[in-house]
Amino acid sequence: MRAVSALAALSLTATLVGVSAPSEAAASARPRAAEPPKRATAYGSGGAVTSVDPYATQIGLRVLRAGGNATDAAVATAAALGVTEPFSAGIGGGGYFVHYSARTGKVQTIDGRETAPAAMPHDAFIDPTTGKPYNFSPELVTSGVSVGVPGTLATWQRALDRWGTRSLGASLRPAARLADRGFVVDQTFNSQVEQNKQRFTAFVPTKRLYWRGGHAPAVGSTFRNPDLAATYRLLARKGTKAFYRGAIAGEIVRAVRRPPKTADTTLPVPRGYLVRRDLKRYRALDRRPTRIGYRGLDVYGMAPSSSGGSTVGEALNILERSDLAGMPRAQALHRYLEASALAFADRGAYVGDPAQVDVPLRDLLSDRFAAERACLISPTATLAKPVAAGDITSYDGRCASSGAAGTTANDTENVETTNLTVADRWGNVVEYTLTIEQTGGSGIVVPGRGFLLNNELTDFTATYDPADPNRIEPLKRPRSSMAPTIVLRHGRPALAVGSPGGSTIITTVLQVLVNRLDLGMTLPEAIAAPRVTQRNTTTDQAEPAFEQRYGAALEALGHDVVPYQDIFTGTQEIGAATGIEFRGRRLVVAAEPTRRGGGAAAVVHPN
Ligand code: GLU
Repeated sequence: MRAVSALAALSLTATLVGVSAPSEAAASARPRAAEPPKRATAYGSGGAVTSVDPYATQIGLRVLRAGGNATDAAVATAAALGVTEPFSAGIGGGGYFVHYSARTGKVQTIDGRETAPAAMPHDAFIDPTTGKPYNFSPELVTSGVSVGVPGTLATWQRALDRWGTRSLGASLRPAARLADRGFVVDQTFNSQVEQNKQRFTAFVPTKRLYWRGGHAPAVGSTFRNPDLAATYRLLARKGTKAFYRGAIAGEIVRAVRRPPKTADTTLPVPRGYLVRRDLKRYRALDRRPTRIGYRGLDVYGMAPSSSGGSTVGEALNILERSDLAGMPRAQALHRYLEASALAFADRGAYVGDPAQVDVPLRDLLSDRFAAERACLISPTATLAKPVAAGDITSYDGRCASSGAAGTTANDTENVETTNLTVADRWGNVVEYTLTIEQTGGSGIVVPGRGFLLNNELTDFTATYDPADPNRIEPLKRPRSSMAPTIVLRHGRPALAVGSPGGSTIITTVLQVLVNRLDLGMTLPEAIAAPRVTQRNTTTDQAEPAFEQRYGAALEALGHDVVPYQDIFTGTQEIGAATGIEFRGRRLVVAAEPTRRGGGAAAVVHPN
């Protein structure tokens, strides 16, 4: 019954009040540096791109119009995001690429997560002068020791090898041109530099690029990055080996081991352990996706080293046992919050890099395990948080006693990152989330190369505990929350969605899916709707509009709904999603209408 209603919802709802994509002519009639038109929704056919940034979306759309496929366009879009969104993503970082092939009907993924150096000790995050962990911010986040081997360039090459039709060089050139010609600085870019003033002025090349003339690039000015343009052109000519073995590898190692500090910075900037061999041995890994059934649909996500697929999947398995569509809204949201807390408890206990940790993925995604977890949810009361992890060694799907108390790990994942969704005329789909971790990554621009290095290793638990699946180990990938997700209906794409936001990525993707699949919203509505995040903490953290609308009703059930605020940026926004819904050949393409200044959705043939 429930399966039928979800299928019907997907194929019948959505009133299409459309705004179309920018036309090429309209875009090229403008002066070079003018921002392309930006719309949060687009409707049409023939392929689509949606990202946080209009330049990147436009570049991806051009690739599609010129006959490129979804992978070609996704890589070109991501390369452009490395230019216009350099504080969220770029070749100094990593990410997860999820692909649906129309030819094979398969969803496959690439794990391009940053990796710890071979010499990384267990106490890498302990300050040798005090014997205590470094302060997280700004000391640890602004360091060589938090820089993992970047995986993004290897991901692009691997994706193009597996599914693309164009070379890496062809995919990088439009972004190189963009970096040369420049783009118009918007409020987000300007604020991100301002927020990072102390960190960005701590390094000679970063200060030179982003604090030129003693201030952040002004809103409305044109920002150029010729070093990055030259780096992209070098990589276009020489391929990934220039990065992982050649000149750039040596420069990355130097920047990590002897960060190019300015004379007047007071930041300590702990040095890292990276050597050339770490870069040489790096591989982007092919991974089987996670898969769960949800109300007759198949939901595919990113397997560990990300916790995205397992946590979203487990929460959906728990939620599938409730008729969310048929219950009052506050009750449905209560269940969403409780399911999220339970899934986060299990994430903390069991998920880490599968190369070094035995992750019980099958158990975490089993319906019987979910049944037992769902039993803990009361319709009239709220579980005491943090809840304990479930016992994956013994479960039988029957209700056990009430949930025991658990612990909440200190959550220091940041809220930046970026996400893009692409579909092509042949029906291939890409959902891709990429990051350099915190806004501005480590703060270290590789001298002369124009890109920032990540600080992804801060996603490891800072203090070493052999029982923690996310403990620091050499050559390990820190656990991620990135959750690029593709939903199939009878083997054909129904929905693709993803978001940035550190550990709120998981709740954002989950909430968008629930909004769309259960609560009767269109995809643009599901993305625009106010958000709340519950990550096994005593409070539910909400955007102001959510709190106003549902706070009282949820508090009557025992929730403590408080305003969300990111500790580093102060933002009250949760996530910045993009997504595409597939209605036969018709595409509903969505980005954020207002979060992060609004995103850019575009379609090849608007209607
Ligand atoms: N480092 C985070 C992760 O891998 C992403 C950071 C972010 O979204 O800002 O899950």
